[in-house]
Amino acid sequence: YHWKERDEYCNIVAIRKGTGSVAEFRSERESVSAVVAHLETDVEKGLSVAEATRRLESEGANELEEAPPTPLWRRIVRELSNVLTLILLAATVISGVEWVIETPRESALPYEAIVILLIVLLNVILDLVQEARADDAVRSLKALSAPQASVIRDGRRQKIPARELVRGDLILVEAGDTVPADARLTEAANLRVEEAALTGESLPVEKSIDPIADADSLGDRRNTLFSATAVTLGRGHALVVATGRKTEVGKIARMVAETEKEQTPLEKELDRVGKRLSMVVLIICVVVFVAGLLTGRVHGLRGLLEFSLFAVAIAVAAIPEALPTIVTTGLALGTRRMAARNAIVRRLPAVETLGAATVICTDKTGTLTQNKMSVRVLFTADAEVSLEEDDPLAGLSEPARQAVRKALRAGAMANDATLVENDRGGQDAQGDPTEAALLVAARKIGADNDAERFARRAEIPFTSDRKRHTTVHHDTDHPDEWRVFVKGAPDVLLDRCAYILVNGERQRMTETHFREVREANSKLSGQTLRTLAMAERVLPRDGADAPTDEEIEEELVFLGMVGMLDPPRPEAADAVRRAKKAGIRVVMATGDHRETAMAIARELGILTEGGEAVSGSELEAMSDEDLAARVEQVQVYARVAPAHKLRIVQAWQRHGHIVAMTGDGVNDAPALRAADIGIAMGITGTDVAREAADMVLADDNFATIVVAVEEGRGIFDNIRRCLFYLLESNAAEVITMFFGILLAEWVAVDNNADLMVPLLASQLLWINLVTDGPPALALGVEPTAPDAMTRPPRDVRHGILTTDGWKRVGIIGLIMTAGTLLALDAAYPGGFFNFLVRFDDLRAAETHARSLAFTTLVLFQVFNALTHRGAEDRSAFHQIRHSPYLLGAILLAVLLQLAVLHLPFLNVAFGTVPLTAVEWMFAFGVSSLLLIGHEAYIAIFRRNRGDDGKK
Ligand code: ADP
Ligand code: MG
Repeated sequence: YHWKERDEYCNIVAIRKGTGSVAEFRSERESVSAVVAHLETDVEKGLSVAEATRRLESEGANELEEAPPTPLWRRIVRELSNVLTLILLAATVISGVEWVIETPRESALPYEAIVILLIVLLNVILDLVQEARADDAVRSLKALSAPQASVIRDGRRQKIPARELVRGDLILVEAGDTVPADARLTEAANLRVEEAALTGESLPVEKSIDPIADADSLGDRRNTLFSATAVTLGRGHALVVATGRKTEVGKIARMVAETEKEQTPLEKELDRVGKRLSMVVLIICVVVFVAGLLTGRVHGLRGLLEFSLFAVAIAVAAIPEALPTIVTTGLALGTRRMAARNAIVRRLPAVETLGAATVICTDKTGTLTQNKMSVRVLFTADAEVSLEEDDPLAGLSEPARQAVRKALRAGAMANDATLVENDRGGQDAQGDPTEAALLVAARKIGADNDAERFARRAEIPFTSDRKRHTTVHHDTDHPDEWRVFVKGAPDVLLDRCAYILVNGERQRMTETHFREVREANSKLSGQTLRTLAMAERVLPRDGADAPTDEEIEEELVFLGMVGMLDPPRPEAADAVRRAKKAGIRVVMATGDHRETAMAIARELGILTEGGEAVSGSELEAMSDEDLAARVEQVQVYARVAPAHKLRIVQAWQRHGHIVAMTGDGVNDAPALRAADIGIAMGITGTDVAREAADMVLADDNFATIVVAVEEGRGIFDNIRRCLFYLLESNAAEVITMFFGILLAEWVAVDNNADLMVPLLASQLLWINLVTDGPPALALGVEPTAPDAMTRPPRDVRHGILTTDGWKRVGIIGLIMTAGTLLALDAAYPGGFFNFLVRFDDLRAAETHARSLAFTTLVLFQVFNALTHRGAEDRSAFHQIRHSPYLLGAILLAVLLQLAVLHLPFLNVAFGTVPLTAVEWMFAFGVSSLLLIGHEAYIAIFRRNRGDDGKK
């Protein structure tokens, strides 16, 4: 058929099947030139920037519509339907009814009901704001890790956000990329793409550029790249044919279920604790209520209402309503801080896990080193030249010069980096730094100007598994030959070399030659140089079957070897030291040569006395058991392949370690997933690695991992502070209510038949939702403690709420209760103390006593917040000026308490009376004992520790 006939036939079939229309342009059926014409673009230069901008405007951005945000009313309904809010609303109603049936009325308006309602509203608003802040933090993180695409526009290669792609754009993809839009291939070198998400085909499919006449399914469209699929091998150029919703994945996007928000282990734990506490509290309330009815202490409807309100108060006192929000907000705000320091968290649980990491297993190139490679020396059979000299070839014989040129020519041909003129009149290298270094070296001695003669026809790409890179070229000087250039790790290449270039002649490689090259390799590696060998061969072009990859890469002629230096990052050694001080082991896993790896590891303090270095082949020979037995001693892994990294992670995990593992390539994805914290490189990393990772390093820097661990520990500390602060406050309120009622007979005068409620429901609400709020929030954003990186990692096997933790909550709760009840007793006639009694009338005395107890309890929380600022071994006032938020929050809480006691309308609403200065001082004095106790404990602890130190 002529393709046009074929095309019409296909369209008819398509119409019958209901899958297309005659007018529709099907790029997969057309030749590249037809596609180029249809898209009005250029197959080499791409679109012009102006045209791309215009198309972006008219066609819209290349993105799938996001799920619409939850509407406000929905969120409000959700807030209003949580247990606490419902209880509070019930309280409002009860209090309102109480006011209605009250005779005579004490107030003109149902103040209490109004205040409770206002507090509910305030709380809902605060929660919504909080939620929006957390969402914002997560969204801006997403924007930070938004996908990028390589395009050619106006003939210039550039990286742009994938959302700016338009139809007709010429894109470049290579192994590790996620395809950014649907695109018709115009060039494909060994290109394999994993399309499982779209087609269900789990094996990567090989792509080509030939037109395909009748493609029934997506899987058949071999010349088209589909958005959201992953390139696993090779490289390609393609023209964008559809973007955004018009892509194949866009068409099914509606079917793709929205991913559930993932709960972190901590959130789950607190959720569990919160639910259990709420249940217990509700049961207590019911029991108290029923008991009250049965014992006949409740009289009439009014009594019943009052008693219900009391039951509600206990519920309010005890339900830790803020628990789930603390964690989410703490983590979300924490990730923002981390992002500002180049650590971009992709999954919230990683923040928690980070702080508990016990092993960091890191790459070398680019992570510990600067990835600014430069060739220092070149070794050939004839000579060793220093590329640092102005004229490296000076003093060499002509054959020796030729050999150097040939070696570097191979390095420059099997090369995907480019040099571009920059504004400063110099050149910038683009692409893989290793390749860029070779290109720069080749240019220096003028060995790179054979591009005209050798046009590249095929390529076997570099992977960390193969450790070599091969290109096949058409030789214009010898049309009957293919020229093959190979560069790669010297030991890998040597196995495939049969010849060596000596004195301008190709010779069979002898044992002596092999030994010489290997020795030179060790020598260079020992000087922390990264080595790379170059080879070539000529293949006859006799029209027979195309040679296989294996055949291409054998019988090579060894040309030479370079030693490149990639200086360590200046901050790396210090970061390693900090990690070790924090009880974290640092292990290096690199594809580089053993000697190079060990030399750098030693320089950075990773390889220490007694530490071992293991190579990939040794690792291969070990069983998983052997590896697990040795893994804690091994500090350096050299010449590893990505599959080895997975085994290393698993071996550590067998010992219960929390492992952070870095990676950048496609094949690193399994190791990144298996690791407790998978860390991908933001600059050199592939999309596939990034998507598998929990965290992305925006600057590829090892030091950033250590910073992230520090932040992770700080965030966890803050969540813990916040949690205990709130639990202790709740405990104090419940225990106060409990003992207050139980001991009412002793506290009060003998014949007081009134039900003595230590604190009113509205007062408990005030504490929980007003004065506790600001300090809790402030504790959540405390700066990371100075000792965060000098203590060992947290043991994740215990949750955050240990038995000791609960004990602490109980003890602090009891101390606060004692103080509060003391205040109550002192201001109420009868009982043990009477030194603060001001009113003889029992009702007035009750209000007064409550006001004092209420204030004492609030101030207890204030001092407790300060106590939490410290730690088990640190004063609360240590570097206090770093905590402006906490100081502000404390001031605010005190001011609010002043208001509730001294503003008349709040007096009515909260059942309070103004306190005298002496009474304020009393409340202050009693509650500050908590802080004084803490400081005294620290002082003693310090002294003891000092003694220990001397022994
Ligand atoms: P790492 O990044 O951990 O140093 P790689 O897996 O990237 O290790 O590289 C392993 C070895 O492969 C290097 O030591 C080098 O000899 C060789 N190599 C690295 N990059 C290339 C490349 N682009 N082409 C050919 N060989 C390479
Ligand atoms: Mg590398």
